[in-house]
Amino acid sequence: MFHHYLVLLALFLFYGLAGCLYQPQMTELDSDTLSEIQEEFPIDGFGYASDIGILERGEILANQNLYELLEEMGVSQQVIWQVSNELKQKLGFRFLKQNQIYYRYRKHNNFGDVHYAPVLILMESNVRYIKIDLSDGILVQASAKPITIRIRQIEGIIESSLYKSLVLQGHSAGVGIELNEIFAWQIDFFRLYQGDNYRAIYEEFISEGEVVGVGRVLAAVFIHQNSVYKAFYYKDEQQQGYYDSEGNGIQKALLKAPFRYNQRISSSFNYSRFHPVLKQSIPHTGTDYAAPLGTPVIAVGDGEIIECKYKGANGNIVQIQHNDTYRTAYLHLNGFGPNIKKGVQVKQGQVIGYVGRTGRVTGVHLHYTLYKHNVPINSVEVNLPSQESLSESAINKFNLEVQKYSFLLGQGSILSPTNNDSYDVEKNS
Ligand SMILES: [Zn+2]
Repeated sequence: MFHHYLVLLALFLFYGLAGCLYQPQMTELDSDTLSEIQEEFPIDGFGYASDIGILERGEILANQNLYELLEEMGVSQQVIWQVSNELKQKLGFRFLKQNQIYYRYRKHNNFGDVHYAPVLILMESNVRYIKIDLSDGILVQASAKPITIRIRQIEGIIESSLYKSLVLQGHSAGVGIELNEIFAWQIDFFRLYQGDNYRAIYEEFISEGEVVGVGRVLAAVFIHQNSVYKAFYYKDEQQQGYYDSEGNGIQKALLKAPFRYNQRISSSFNYSRFHPVLKQSIPHTGTDYAAPLGTPVIAVGDGEIIECKYKGANGNIVQIQHNDTYRTAYLHLNGFGPNIKKGVQVKQGQVIGYVGRTGRVTGVHLHYTLYKHNVPINSVEVNLPSQESLSESAINKFNLEVQKYSFLLGQGSILSPTNNDSYDVEKNS
């Protein structure tokens, strides 16, 4: 019994101490001052207006090169070649270094499809950077502008959507996109409930006193339908990603649905569905999504394209073999994604096709099937395999991070759902 009090005392001392240690940062974590930040940032530290997109920070990976970065932004091979030449001749620039910081501007269109503005900023130090701007010809320029990173905390209660909640408080929707991506495997952000609430600690980019962008979310808690979801960012030489407080990876090897933004399910997985075209009861071994024509369909996981063709009632079909266990099929596509053909390796999130109405269908939709050992299973109900958990060697360091951020996240006012008979905000009939 006495032993328990000792543990409690130790915990109390730890958090008390942690409180003192992290106190200096708390001045940055005041939600009152946060609401004064305006959504309009006239010109950011790199000379761009906010409508160009959401500033996204990246780090050059081992063996990653300029070619890959620019190609991902949709820049043609010829232009990439010209850019590297200009960089070499004008600035003596040769190679990207591993862990070098870069910035890009991310945009989302009406379909939720991501693309980048034709601007790439390569940081050479905290102050010096190279700007590559391809919006009007080829501009390659060396400049200096310090970007500092400040840690901030937000909290909010959902009234209708996460974005509305953020924007009403004067925050950038960029935080919402980050949260959406972190919790995408656990929470359907298009079916949030009134009273769902969240807290997050994130990096904010500041240049000359102006907020110029949103960085990484470091820790977050999302309470959805009274279930608590936690995410802690962790990175070392071996691994990086978001983990729950026990160090289990919360991001999955397979996405829940083959879309960047969740789409309405028009017909669920059902072994005895009455088929609207064949007018008889036949099993519907997949999930139909009523997404608009042309919506990009993405690979739910890394894998190899094992089929990509027009196939009778299936219409245009793509099938991906993810590993020995899982395979996925995408039917009735309007067309295939760039470079998608049989034998090609794809990455999770890569566009493999577009929603269509090819084959035996009554209307535009995507029929999606997940197979486990070649048996179709209900992708909506199934518990998908997780990304790897943290290695034993990382656990101690990770636990300290969890304690630090849990303490900081606990500092805000107590939040509780405002409405007990919550309803499904985005529910379609
Ligand atoms: Zn179907």
